[in-house]
Amino acid sequence: MRNVNAKSILTATSGFLADGFTHTLNPYSGCAFGQQTALGQGCPFCYVRRSPAGLFGPAPWGEWVTVKQNAPELLEQELGRLRRRGKPIRIFMSSSTDPFQAAERTAQVSRRCLEVLVAHPPDFLVVQTRSLLVRQVLPLLRQFGDRVMLSLTLETDREDVRRLFTPTSPPVAARLKLAGEFRAAGVPVQVAVSPVLPHDAERFATMLAASADRVVVDTLFDGDGAGGARSEGLGMRGMFERLGFGAWYSRESHLPLLEALRQRMGEERVFYSCEGFNSLPSVK
Ligand code: SF4
Repeated sequence: MRNVNAKSILTATSGFLADGFTHTLNPYSGCAFGQQTALGQGCPFCYVRRSPAGLFGPAPWGEWVTVKQNAPELLEQELGRLRRRGKPIRIFMSSSTDPFQAAERTAQVSRRCLEVLVAHPPDFLVVQTRSLLVRQVLPLLRQFGDRVMLSLTLETDREDVRRLFTPTSPPVAARLKLAGEFRAAGVPVQVAVSPVLPHDAERFATMLAASADRVVVDTLFDGDGAGGARSEGLGMRGMFERLGFGAWYSRESHLPLLEALRQRMGEERVFYSCEGFNSLPSVK
């Protein structure tokens, strides 16, 4: 882990994120969830690995984390400039890292950014994470009222699959429990099944219907920003086959889950891929 002073902190969105957000906010670069551990490779599907940050970082993706230590100060300045221009501000935190890295325990840079955002509220904020450390900012997120949503990534209901594909991520039950705590506190929760991994569709849908306000399902094909080419480049086909899940590496394997979710939650709370971004709650 190293500290740097960034030049800017809000990045204007492009691509699919531009449908729902004006800016992304990444208080870290690099991501320790992607590291190689004794249990296996974390997030092997992470397409940031194939981005310039992943390809030209100081070490292999997952092995480094940079703290943008001046992020809160930059954020305050940049929010002020945007507000003076009278533009809407809809922020996605974060697009190329997880904002609740283990480093957050000491760096607290995401927490400090959220404190700035509470003082200068954007029109809408989505905090996306797979980390249980987000629990620490629940009182802060409550202060955004209806301008915030927690988006929790959870790719499967199967613990055996979670351990094989995402061994650095918290257990399924722990993430569902976390979702329940945020909802009970009045913070809306989206679960992002992104990318969908092998699962039991009926059981997963039942769990999600009980735990989330809305669900977005995405795949290794439509969700990698390159029609599946990045997932191929990351060796996902071979990984699925090696682990005995070859039949799951398909453009249709998410359909039973989508159907089961829609039966339980209704069409208006279940989204596929980019629909999830352009259907976000409107600003009140
Ligand atoms: S948490 Fe997100 S950014 Fe980090 S390695 Fe996993 S998929 Fe990539």
